[in-house]
Amino acid sequence: MATLEIKDLVAHVETKDGIKQILKGASLTVNSGETHAIMGPNGSGKSTLAYTLAGHPKYIVDSGQVLLDGEDVLKMTPDERAKAGLFLAMQYPVEVPGVSMTNFLRTAKTEIDGKAPKLKTWTEELTESMKRLKMDPKFATRSVNEGFSGGEKKRAEVLQLELLRPKFAILDETDSGLDVDALRIVSEGVNRAKEANNFGILMVTHYTRILKYIKPDIVHVFSDGHFVKTGGPELADELEEQGYDQYLPAGSDSE
Ligand code: ADP
Ligand code: MG
Ligand code: MG
Repeated sequence: MATLEIKDLVAHVETKDGIKQILKGASLTVNSGETHAIMGPNGSGKSTLAYTLAGHPKYIVDSGQVLLDGEDVLKMTPDERAKAGLFLAMQYPVEVPGVSMTNFLRTAKTEIDGKAPKLKTWTEELTESMKRLKMDPKFATRSVNEGFSGGEKKRAEVLQLELLRPKFAILDETDSGLDVDALRIVSEGVNRAKEANNFGILMVTHYTRILKYIKPDIVHVFSDGHFVKTGGPELADELEEQGYDQYLPAGSDSE
């Protein structure tokens, strides 16, 4: 069993207009096998939380801690975080021209496991996963995310998730830009990967529709840089009906 603890995390970005404080004391603990949904209004800092966990250099931590089984994640480089078992699926995945999906995945797998996977089993696994995600085999030789549609990028991420077997997966708006069929395929992929590896999931989402496919154990409301409420799956239904108005900081407009 693994535990990821986020303790009172405070972080900012530097913009051309000065420092913007985004995370204002975010705390959360997630264990292996748990699925947490992080829901909240646009601009509340959900993606920033995900990026900060992944070690994106733009987001600068002022105070607080992130511990993975007691190890200080904030001291680790993004590579070391991946090696330690953190996986981030971004809201806007980056394109990597000139690096094929298959090379990228094999390199990442080798880096994370500390040894290269056996070619035959690896190729079989890759082929099987792609088939289940209904990805054209041609994607294996295409450059990472280059010219992929929104839905194809999300599938490519779930493919990574299945093959890399992290301890914790942070999924940022995995549902955005997906039609119903793609949403189902992507969700099934996440569920399959979770069944196989029992990792913990932090699922960031603005809308509740993905929660019909990936069932959360715990639902959190995130607003203005921190968690303001935690509940069971019924909290998502409440948010679906009532929106985020009651959780917005005073003086802000709802979206
Ligand atoms: P969410 O994912 O909840 O919609 P974000 O984390 O993307 O929120 O953004 C939170 C706030 O921080 C927003 O006001 C956004 O404009 C701002 N922000 C995020 N990243 C940057 C950045 N790199 N530079 C400037 N402002 C940023
Ligand atoms: Mg947003
Ligand atoms: Mg976001």
